[in-house]
Amino acid sequence: MIFGSLFGRRSDVAAPAAAADSGPASTALLEAVVAGMPDAAIVLNREGRLIVANAAARVIAPALAPGQPLSLALRMPEIVDAVRQAASTGEPRRVEFSQRVPVDRWFAAHVAPLGGPHGGGLMLLVFQDLTPLRRIEEMRADFVANASHELRTPLAALSGFIDTLRGSARDDATARERFLAIMKTQATRMARLIDDLLSLSRIELTEHVHPDKPVDLVAIVRQVTDSLQTLALDRNVAIEITPPADPMIVLGDRDELTRVFENLVENALKYGASGKKVSVGFATAKGPSGAEALVAVRDYGPGIAAEHLPRLTERFYRVDVSQSRAEGGTGLGLSLVKHTLNRHRGRIQIESEAGKGATFTARLPLVHSESR
Ligand code: ADP
Repeated sequence: MIFGSLFGRRSDVAAPAAAADSGPASTALLEAVVAGMPDAAIVLNREGRLIVANAAARVIAPALAPGQPLSLALRMPEIVDAVRQAASTGEPRRVEFSQRVPVDRWFAAHVAPLGGPHGGGLMLLVFQDLTPLRRIEEMRADFVANASHELRTPLAALSGFIDTLRGSARDDATARERFLAIMKTQATRMARLIDDLLSLSRIELTEHVHPDKPVDLVAIVRQVTDSLQTLALDRNVAIEITPPADPMIVLGDRDELTRVFENLVENALKYGASGKKVSVGFATAKGPSGAEALVAVRDYGPGIAAEHLPRLTERFYRVDVSQSRAEGGTGLGLSLVKHTLNRHRGRIQIESEAGKGATFTARLPLVHSESR
């Protein structure tokens, strides 16, 4: 018996009460207690054998069976050690461990000897799932690494040009003008990145607060396409817009929705320029919770290969980093679009086939005319 001697050696543990012997009534009580716990929990008897386990514990260790020694039931040496130590010292222990199969998961096991006259040498093990916390920590670390890298690149260029202007190019007026123009571009890029990062953090903070002002989507999209005519001319792309006769009213923040459609139309003009045409269409459809307004921005450029589609709205994800940089992109545009639409109870739908252009459709709940 692995734990029998350890538990037996403890002098502060009262002689086994009914619970320790896991008589039918007390086992039922223990079962009811662990079943009511939100985390995975198991109770061992003074010999280190399993008495009860709740459903969440059986998800972590499907082989758990009453009467089994812990070492067989869990096959996690860290926990077996922690139980042994808790038994010999009478002090609770906390140990972290991870599972690799079927997916990576992290847990903290809290091992507590149930002391006092009614504890009877029982040992309570509670498993706290740390996986969501770990995932958030990883995402935050990745985000900081990405943001720093994106800022460091233009900063390195700026500082390189400052050195050159102080040194070899000091008296070269032509080089100076050229370098200053590049420095301006890099500074603008840093400013855009900071703006996008701030917008993203603001939207994320307010994502659960849904805007409540009625706005007309058609007017917003028209204004966006008008303001992007210069870029369209520059890229030799025609914007075709087919607005409906009636307004499409949604509850929204005008400025935020303007940014959404600016991002989508700008992307279509930049990445789909080879198709020479960008069409913007409107429709209504039945969504999961009522009628929705659909605004589809379609380009006829190279499109996007299927493997990239699910990742496009991740922060800093780009299909082609150098193309995005050359276009002055930050890799945050579609992430902003997604979070802004979430805040508006809407969503973005992306369809594309490589070689056939791409369609980005924003879907937002429509306000019915009666409730206007
Ligand atoms: P960026 O600042 O790089 O434009 P976005 O988040 O707006 O960032 O877009 C992410 C990536 O998605 C872009 O870098 C580009 O690779 C791809 N993309 C976006 N829109 C289109 C489009 N209409 N056609 C092809 N690729 C696109």
